Amino acid sequence: MEFGQFNVNALMEITQRPEIVFVRGQGSWLEDHAGKRYLDFIQGWAVNTLGHCPPEIIAALDKQARTLINPSPAFYNQPMVELAERLTSASCFDRVFFANSGAEANEGAIKLARKWGQVNKNGAFKIITFDHSFHGRTLTTMSASGKPGWSTIFAPQVEGFPKADLNDIASVEALVDDQTVAIMLEPVQGEGGVIPATQEFMQGLRQLADKHKLLLIVDEVQTGMGRTGSLFAYQQFGITPDIMTLAKGIGGGAPLAALLARQDVCVFKHGDQGGTYNGNPLMTAVGIAVFDAVTAPGFLEGVNARGKQLSDGLLQLSEKYGMKGERGMGLLRALKLGTDHGPAIVEAARDQNPEGLLLNAPRPNLLRFMPALNVSAEDMDSMLKQLDVLVERICK
Ligand SMILES: *Cc1c(COP(=O)(O)O)cnc(C)c1O
Repeated sequence: MEFGQFNVNALMEITQRPEIVFVRGQGSWLEDHAGKRYLDFIQGWAVNTLGHCPPEIIAALDKQARTLINPSPAFYNQPMVELAERLTSASCFDRVFFANSGAEANEGAIKLARKWGQVNKNGAFKIITFDHSFHGRTLTTMSASGKPGWSTIFAPQVEGFPKADLNDIASVEALVDDQTVAIMLEPVQGEGGVIPATQEFMQGLRQLADKHKLLLIVDEVQTGMGRTGSLFAYQQFGITPDIMTLAKGIGGGAPLAALLARQDVCVFKHGDQGGTYNGNPLMTAVGIAVFDAVTAPGFLEGVNARGKQLSDGLLQLSEKYGMKGERGMGLLRALKLGTDHGPAIVEAARDQNPEGLLLNAPRPNLLRFMPALNVSAEDMDSMLKQLDVLVERICK
């Protein structure tokens, strides 16, 4: 395929991409090869916590690149130590293992749970996960995921991931047996369509885990680092998980992930876990910059204010056009269209002129919004107004 000055045939085909090459970004805005600007409500897939090219990340990368890029994961380095201290002091967890992607952090969580089962539960290894969940694209995390069709595309699956239904505690209890070691879930299913777990369900899982001596693992790859209006989503459910994974927002656009666990769960022996880039100072320095920005006074209040603005605006649209409402937490929200116009709206929003708007439809009947956490009230308002016009045009 060729367009403009670009021949993109050297890239492996893995998804349908529009004929756009992005060349720069600033805050909530992206610019393509032709100089067209786009208001970005995808933000690297809920990754760019502080928007595109934020000064905090530029400064951290610049300073760290001049200081130390990688001494080897077999040695301690300063940003690694300091970020681990920040994460543990702000959560219920005691120790951190850094990784490079959400899938890798989740693989680590699964390995840790299986190891814990070997040490403490007679080799129990099954981890109950959920229909429509998403935990990553390695073979094991695909097996853990409940995406329709994923059980067969790279068969055989890694075994040991029975699937229950979100917000149905009986469906979880029915799957518990002697070989069960953990329950793993996203506090808000992201890729599945922004479906929050209920408070009652989360607390029920904690009780069930305690009753059967199971670990409770929260995959906060998408919900963590302020996205839902608290630093971590689990904090809004009144529960204490045993293991948590972070990625996406923790690096603010840079590849950084983390596996966190409470002390009594940290059963890895030397050699069980590692990785060449894990905990490298360049990325952990970025993690510190993001952490300090998100935990600065007033930041999460801003996320909640913009989250309410988004929620109110979506509800108004929903009422105006007879849609099915909205759902989500903080700045991870979805509009339930009630029709399958999602992809058409996404395309029209992107292609409008002079300025485009980037949205995502995780399902045809749903639009997902994952702006920068520091998105301005004006940009939020502008997005909602544009959406109104687009819906008026496309859904009628
Ligand atoms: C994106 C995502 C992952 C996978 O993270 P990668 O960095 O793409 O490997 C895992 N879990 C959840 C909940 C996610 O949203």
